[in-house]
Amino acid sequence: MSGPEAKMKSGGVATNSKLVAAGPVVLLGPPGAGKGTQAKRLMARYVVPQVSTGDILRDHVSRGTQLGEKARAVMERGSLVEDSLVCDMVAERLNRPDCLRGFILDGFPRTVGQAQWLDRYLQTRLFETNGLRRVPLVVISIQVGYNELMRRLAGRRCCPTCGRIYNINFQPPREDERCDVDGSRLEVRRDDREEVISERLKAYERQTLPLVEYYRAQGRLHEVDGTQPMEAVMDEAMSIIENGNRL
Ligand code: AMP
Repeated sequence: MSGPEAKMKSGGVATNSKLVAAGPVVLLGPPGAGKGTQAKRLMARYVVPQVSTGDILRDHVSRGTQLGEKARAVMERGSLVEDSLVCDMVAERLNRPDCLRGFILDGFPRTVGQAQWLDRYLQTRLFETNGLRRVPLVVISIQVGYNELMRRLAGRRCCPTCGRIYNINFQPPREDERCDVDGSRLEVRRDDREEVISERLKAYERQTLPLVEYYRAQGRLHEVDGTQPMEAVMDEAMSIIENGNRL
Protein backbone atom coordinates (compact mmCIF):
# COMPACT_ATOMS: atom_id res chain seq x y z
CA MET A 1 0.00 0.00 0.00
CA SER A 2 1.33 3.43 -0.79
CA GLY A 3 0.24 7.08 -0.94
CA PRO A 4 -2.38 8.69 1.29
CA GLU A 5 -4.04 5.34 2.21
CA ALA A 6 -0.85 3.95 3.77
CA LYS A 7 -0.13 7.26 5.42
CA MET A 8 -3.57 7.37 6.97
CA LYS A 9 -3.21 3.84 8.36
CA SER A 10 0.20 4.58 9.87
CA GLY A 11 -0.96 7.87 11.33
CA GLY A 12 -4.16 6.56 12.87
CA VAL A 13 -6.20 9.04 10.84
CA ALA A 14 -9.59 8.17 9.34
CA THR A 15 -9.09 5.37 6.80
CA ASN A 16 -12.08 6.46 4.76
CA SER A 17 -10.63 7.06 1.29
CA LYS A 18 -13.57 9.30 0.29
CA LEU A 19 -12.66 12.95 -0.06
CA VAL A 20 -13.11 14.81 3.20
CA ALA A 21 -14.00 18.48 2.80
CA ALA A 22 -11.22 20.44 4.44
CA GLY A 23 -13.20 23.65 5.01
CA PRO A 24 -11.14 26.71 5.96
CA VAL A 25 -7.73 25.89 7.43
CA VAL A 26 -5.03 28.32 8.61
CA LEU A 27 -1.43 27.17 8.92
CA LEU A 28 0.26 29.44 11.41
CA GLY A 29 3.96 29.55 12.16
CA PRO A 30 7.16 31.49 11.58
CA PRO A 31 8.88 31.64 8.18
CA GLY A 32 10.72 28.34 7.73
CA ALA A 33 8.35 26.30 9.93
CA GLY A 34 7.29 24.20 6.93
CA LYS A 35 3.87 25.79 6.29
CA GLY A 36 4.38 25.75 2.51
CA THR A 37 5.50 22.12 2.46
CA GLN A 38 2.58 20.98 4.62
CA ALA A 39 0.10 23.14 2.71
CA LYS A 40 1.12 21.48 -0.57
CA ARG A 41 0.61 18.03 0.92
CA LEU A 42 -2.75 18.92 2.48
CA MET A 43 -3.80 20.44 -0.84
CA ALA A 44 -3.09 17.13 -2.60
CA ARG A 45 -4.89 15.15 0.12
CA TYR A 46 -8.08 17.24 0.22
CA VAL A 47 -8.09 18.59 -3.34
CA VAL A 48 -8.45 22.17 -2.14
CA PRO A 49 -6.08 25.01 -3.04
CA GLN A 50 -3.13 26.24 -1.03
CA VAL A 51 -3.55 29.99 -0.75
CA SER A 52 -0.08 31.39 -0.04
CA THR A 53 -0.08 35.18 0.23
CA GLY A 54 3.73 35.17 -0.16
CA ASP A 55 3.44 33.29 -3.49
CA ILE A 56 0.62 35.55 -4.74
CA LEU A 57 2.58 38.68 -3.80
CA ARG A 58 5.77 37.37 -5.47
CA ASP A 59 3.72 36.71 -8.60
CA HIS A 60 2.45 40.32 -8.55
CA VAL A 61 6.03 41.57 -8.11
CA SER A 62 7.33 39.51 -11.02
CA ARG A 63 4.45 40.64 -13.28
CA GLY A 64 5.01 44.27 -12.26
CA THR A 65 1.35 44.89 -11.34
CA GLN A 66 0.31 47.96 -9.33
CA LEU A 67 0.09 45.80 -6.18
CA GLY A 68 3.46 44.25 -7.00
CA GLU A 69 5.05 47.70 -7.28
CA LYS A 70 3.68 48.65 -3.85
CA ALA A 71 4.74 45.33 -2.26
CA ARG A 72 8.24 44.96 -3.72
CA ALA A 73 10.23 47.22 -1.39
CA VAL A 74 8.30 46.12 1.70
CA MET A 75 8.99 42.47 0.93
CA GLU A 76 12.65 43.07 0.18
CA ARG A 77 13.22 44.51 3.62
CA GLY A 78 11.29 41.66 5.31
CA SER A 79 8.38 43.79 6.60
CA LEU A 80 4.68 43.11 6.13
CA VAL A 81 2.56 44.46 3.29
CA GLU A 82 -0.38 46.65 4.42
CA ASP A 83 -3.44 44.73 5.71
CA SER A 84 -5.96 46.35 3.34
CA LEU A 85 -3.95 45.40 0.23
CA VAL A 86 -3.44 41.82 1.40
CA CYS A 87 -7.08 41.32 2.52
CA ASP A 88 -8.46 42.53 -0.85
CA MET A 89 -6.07 40.19 -2.62
CA VAL A 90 -7.11 37.25 -0.41
CA ALA A 91 -10.85 37.99 -0.85
CA GLU A 92 -10.43 37.87 -4.61
CA ARG A 93 -8.63 34.51 -4.33
CA LEU A 94 -11.03 32.87 -1.84
CA ASN A 95 -14.06 33.82 -3.92
CA ARG A 96 -12.90 31.68 -6.83
CA PRO A 97 -14.80 28.40 -7.45
CA ASP A 98 -11.86 26.12 -6.54
CA CYS A 99 -12.23 27.29 -2.89
CA LEU A 100 -15.81 26.01 -2.60
CA ARG A 101 -14.85 22.90 -0.53
CA GLY A 102 -12.21 24.70 1.49
CA PHE A 103 -8.70 26.15 1.33
CA ILE A 104 -5.37 25.94 3.12
CA LEU A 105 -4.18 29.44 4.06
CA ASP A 106 -0.40 29.64 4.23
CA GLY A 107 1.10 32.93 5.44
CA PHE A 108 -2.29 34.55 6.08
CA PRO A 109 -3.45 35.95 8.45
CA ARG A 110 -0.23 37.56 9.67
CA THR A 111 -1.67 40.31 11.89
CA VAL A 112 -4.58 40.54 14.31
CA GLY A 113 -6.24 42.94 11.83
CA GLN A 114 -6.06 40.29 9.10
CA ALA A 115 -7.42 37.63 11.50
CA GLN A 116 -10.37 39.88 12.36
CA TRP A 117 -10.99 40.44 8.67
CA LEU A 118 -10.96 36.65 8.10
CA ASP A 119 -13.45 36.10 10.94
CA ARG A 120 -15.82 38.62 9.34
CA TYR A 121 -15.35 37.04 5.91
CA LEU A 122 -16.11 33.54 7.26
CA GLN A 123 -19.30 34.70 9.01
CA THR A 124 -21.06 34.83 5.68
CA ARG A 125 -19.04 32.24 3.79
CA LEU A 126 -20.54 28.82 2.92
CA PHE A 127 -18.68 25.63 1.96
CA GLU A 128 -19.79 22.66 -0.13
CA THR A 129 -19.83 19.67 2.26
CA ASN A 130 -22.91 17.59 1.38
CA GLY A 131 -24.82 20.79 0.82
CA LEU A 132 -23.77 24.36 1.43
CA ARG A 133 -23.05 25.19 5.05
CA ARG A 134 -20.81 27.18 7.33
CA VAL A 135 -17.70 25.31 8.47
CA PRO A 136 -15.68 26.55 11.46
CA LEU A 137 -12.09 27.60 10.92
CA VAL A 138 -9.29 25.25 12.05
CA VAL A 139 -5.97 26.84 13.01
CA ILE A 140 -2.85 24.67 13.09
CA SER A 141 0.20 26.32 14.59
CA ILE A 142 3.51 24.71 13.52
CA GLN A 143 6.17 25.38 16.13
CA VAL A 144 9.93 25.47 15.47
CA GLY A 145 12.68 27.17 17.56
CA TYR A 146 14.74 30.18 16.40
CA ASN A 147 18.06 28.41 15.66
CA GLU A 148 16.42 25.69 13.61
CA LEU A 149 14.48 28.33 11.63
CA MET A 150 17.71 30.20 10.80
CA ARG A 151 19.32 26.94 9.64
CA ARG A 152 16.34 26.11 7.45
CA LEU A 153 15.91 29.57 5.90
CA ALA A 154 19.59 30.27 5.25
CA GLY A 155 19.97 26.87 3.50
CA ARG A 156 16.87 27.25 1.33
CA ARG A 157 17.34 27.25 -2.45
CA CYS A 158 14.65 27.48 -5.15
CA CYS A 159 14.60 26.45 -8.76
CA PRO A 160 13.63 29.54 -10.80
CA THR A 161 12.21 27.29 -13.55
CA CYS A 162 10.00 24.71 -11.78
CA GLY A 163 9.74 26.23 -8.28
CA ARG A 164 11.07 23.14 -6.48
CA ILE A 165 12.55 23.91 -3.07
CA TYR A 166 15.80 22.39 -1.74
CA ASN A 167 17.87 22.87 1.38
CA ILE A 168 21.63 22.65 1.13
CA ASN A 169 21.83 21.48 4.78
CA PHE A 170 19.40 18.59 4.76
CA GLN A 171 17.74 18.21 1.35
CA PRO A 172 20.47 19.04 -1.17
CA PRO A 173 20.12 18.58 -4.94
CA ARG A 174 22.03 15.65 -6.49
CA GLU A 175 24.37 18.04 -8.35
CA ASP A 176 25.70 21.07 -6.45
CA GLU A 177 23.37 24.13 -6.84
CA ARG A 178 21.49 22.54 -9.80
CA CYS A 179 17.83 21.50 -9.91
CA ASP A 180 17.32 17.69 -10.08
CA VAL A 181 14.33 18.16 -12.37
CA ASP A 182 15.54 20.59 -15.05
CA GLY A 183 19.18 21.38 -14.25
CA SER A 184 18.55 25.13 -13.70
CA ARG A 185 20.97 26.93 -11.39
CA LEU A 186 19.29 27.19 -7.97
CA GLU A 187 18.65 30.63 -6.46
CA VAL A 188 18.40 32.12 -2.98
CA ARG A 189 15.06 33.91 -2.58
CA ARG A 190 15.75 37.64 -2.23
CA ASP A 191 14.24 37.65 1.25
CA ASP A 192 16.16 34.54 2.38
CA ARG A 193 19.37 36.58 2.68
CA GLU A 194 20.61 36.52 6.26
CA GLU A 195 19.96 40.20 7.12
CA VAL A 196 16.41 39.95 5.74
CA ILE A 197 15.72 36.66 7.53
CA SER A 198 16.25 38.25 10.92
CA GLU A 199 13.88 41.10 9.95
CA ARG A 200 11.25 38.57 8.88
CA LEU A 201 11.59 36.69 12.16
CA LYS A 202 11.27 39.98 14.09
CA ALA A 203 8.15 40.90 12.09
CA TYR A 204 6.78 37.46 12.95
CA GLU A 205 7.38 37.90 16.68
CA ARG A 206 5.97 41.40 16.76
CA GLN A 207 2.97 41.07 14.47
CA THR A 208 2.11 37.40 13.99
CA LEU A 209 2.88 35.74 17.33
CA PRO A 210 -0.06 37.61 18.98
CA LEU A 211 -2.30 35.57 16.66
CA VAL A 212 -1.46 32.43 18.64
CA GLU A 213 -3.15 34.00 21.67
CA TYR A 214 -5.95 35.42 19.51
CA TYR A 215 -6.87 31.94 18.25
CA ARG A 216 -6.20 30.23 21.58
CA ALA A 217 -8.73 32.58 23.20
CA GLN A 218 -11.24 31.58 20.50
CA GLY A 219 -10.55 27.88 21.26
CA ARG A 220 -9.47 27.23 17.66
CA LEU A 221 -5.74 26.69 18.12
CA HIS A 222 -4.06 23.32 17.58
CA GLU A 223 -0.31 23.22 18.18
CA VAL A 224 1.98 20.82 16.33
CA ASP A 225 5.72 20.25 16.88
CA GLY A 226 7.28 21.27 13.54
CA THR A 227 10.66 19.67 14.31
CA GLN A 228 9.18 16.19 13.86
CA PRO A 229 9.65 14.42 10.51
CA MET A 230 7.44 15.91 7.77
CA GLU A 231 5.24 12.80 7.67
CA ALA A 232 4.46 13.07 11.39
CA VAL A 233 3.55 16.76 11.11
CA MET A 234 1.26 15.90 8.17
CA ASP A 235 -0.41 13.04 10.09
CA GLU A 236 -1.14 15.32 13.02
CA ALA A 237 -2.50 18.03 10.75
CA MET A 238 -4.77 15.53 9.01
CA SER A 239 -6.12 14.12 12.24
CA ILE A 240 -6.89 17.64 13.46
CA ILE A 241 -8.79 18.37 10.26
CA GLU A 242 -10.56 14.98 10.07
CA ASN A 243 -11.16 13.65 13.54
CA GLY A 244 -13.91 15.98 14.60
CA ASN A 245 -11.50 18.38 16.21
CA ARG A 246 -13.36 21.35 14.79
CA LEU A 247 -14.30 23.26 17.90
P1 AMP B 1 6.24 34.29 2.83
O1 AMP B 1 6.56 33.63 1.53
O2 AMP B 1 4.92 33.82 3.41
O3 AMP B 1 7.37 34.19 3.83
O4 AMP B 1 6.02 35.85 2.52
C1 AMP B 1 7.04 36.62 1.94
C2 AMP B 1 6.79 38.09 2.20
O5 AMP B 1 5.53 38.48 1.63
C3 AMP B 1 6.66 38.46 3.67
O6 AMP B 1 7.93 38.67 4.28
C4 AMP B 1 5.83 39.76 3.58
O7 AMP B 1 6.63 40.84 3.15
C5 AMP B 1 4.87 39.43 2.46
N1 AMP B 1 3.63 38.79 2.98
C6 AMP B 1 3.23 37.51 2.79
N2 AMP B 1 2.06 37.28 3.40
C7 AMP B 1 1.69 38.43 3.99
C8 AMP B 1 0.59 38.83 4.80
N3 AMP B 1 -0.38 37.97 5.12
N4 AMP B 1 0.57 40.12 5.24
C9 AMP B 1 1.53 41.00 4.93
N5 AMP B 1 2.61 40.69 4.20
C10 AMP B 1 2.70 39.42 3.72
